Order: sequence, then structure tokens, then C-alpha cells
Amino acid sequence: MTNEKAASERSGGRVLLVEDEAPIREGLCELFLSQGYQVVALGDGLSALEQSADGGFDVVILDIMLPGMDGLGVLTHLRSRGDHTPVLLLTAKGAEDDIVKGLEAGADDYVPKPFGIHELLARVKGLMRRAQLREREPQKVISVGAAIIDLDQLVVRSPEGEVKLTARECSILEFLAARAHRPVGRDELLVEVWGYRDGSIQTRTVDVHMQQLRAKLKAVPGGDEWIGTVRGRGYRFDGPLSP
Ligand code: CA
Repeated sequence: MTNEKAASERSGGRVLLVEDEAPIREGLCELFLSQGYQVVALGDGLSALEQSADGGFDVVILDIMLPGMDGLGVLTHLRSRGDHTPVLLLTAKGAEDDIVKGLEAGADDYVPKPFGIHELLARVKGLMRRAQLREREPQKVISVGAAIIDLDQLVVRSPEGEVKLTARECSILEFLAARAHRPVGRDELLVEVWGYRDGSIQTRTVDVHMQQLRAKLKAVPGGDEWIGTVRGRGYRFDGPLSP
């Protein structure tokens, strides 16, 4: 496919699907095609890495358990070469460890197997919408005390050094900081940061991300006080914002 063609059909979105189990791969492929997406479906990590090098994908759906290089390896390679395409991980049931590693490696979201197709579709749409919004946003930094959150470079700089963040973690901070000292609900975060239409969707993804983000912010002076928990409501940004 030529780049021109990819661009002209961008409205439907391009999905890179990496799943070694043929029935799941073929089922998902059909699903996305029927929804007007373009799909490249592959069964192993190395081919996925080669294919994604050309760019042009709006979302990568990445199974973790793959032959050869696994999904976490693919994800790590993608991010290390500066590819910030939204990645949705497919995780095995009960593999909490993989989820944490995946988010740490820069995954935007995960869906545990077995999943419902509507659920998966909603997640993918959300990721695409959010990515399109990000593309339109101007360059930005947020000053918090002696630290600076660089939303383009995905990093927090402070006198103690640099803390690398994922694109999702930056989006969370940006959203919370814009509503500083006010409680922000998980449902609101799912709609506004994840791009889901329905914030009542059952998922732990917000809490898992928040846990990771807080762990990283501990390396920033005062960073452990930036994000507070509001019982029964969600989260609140309490960092000392500078004008
Ligand atoms: Ca698999």
C-alpha cells in the first residue's frame, strides 16, 4: 500500500494486529475490516517490528505471548526507537505481572483474555481518538515547584534528574494538573484521557497506571504529593503549580 493511499483512508484508521493464535487473529481481522479499518495482521513479534518501522499505524494490538520476540520485547523496541503509536496489549488471564511490565514499557492500555469484541473495539476507538487529539495539541510544559513536566519529550526534569514518562502518564498529569485541587473521577479520566465514550466501563487500567505514575514521581522532589487519592471520587492533583 502506498503512503498516499494510507493517508487518504486514514479516517477509518490503520490497525497493526499481532497475535499468533490464528482463530483470534482472523476473527479480529474480520471484525476490524467490517468496521472500516485497515488491518495488517501478523503472527510473530519480529515481523511486527519490521512492519511497524514504516509507521502509519494508528493503533497496535499486541499479544504478549508470541513466538520468538514476545509482545513486551516488541513494545520495548518500538518505544526505544521513538515510536509512540498507541499500543493495546492482549494479556493472559491472571498475568498481572505482564500488565505492570507492559505499562512500564509504554503500553497505553491492556485487555485481558478472554475479551469481548465490543470491549476491544471500544478500547481501540478510544486510543485512536486520543492519539488524534494529541497530534493537534501545541508544545507544552507544566512547571510544578522546582520540576518541569515536558509533555513533548515525555519527561519530568528536576534538580534530582530526569524521570521518563509514557505518553499516557503525561496525559494523566496534564489532565489532572489542568484541574488542580479538584477531584477527578476514574470515569472522567477514562472518557477524557483514554478517549472512551463510556466511562463506566469496568477496568482497573486507571488505578494501575496511577500506581506506576506515582512510583515514578517518587524520584522527583515532592513528587509523592502531586497526586492525591480522593476516597470514593478518584484523584486530585495537589502539586505546587507555577504560573
Ligand atoms: Ca499468543
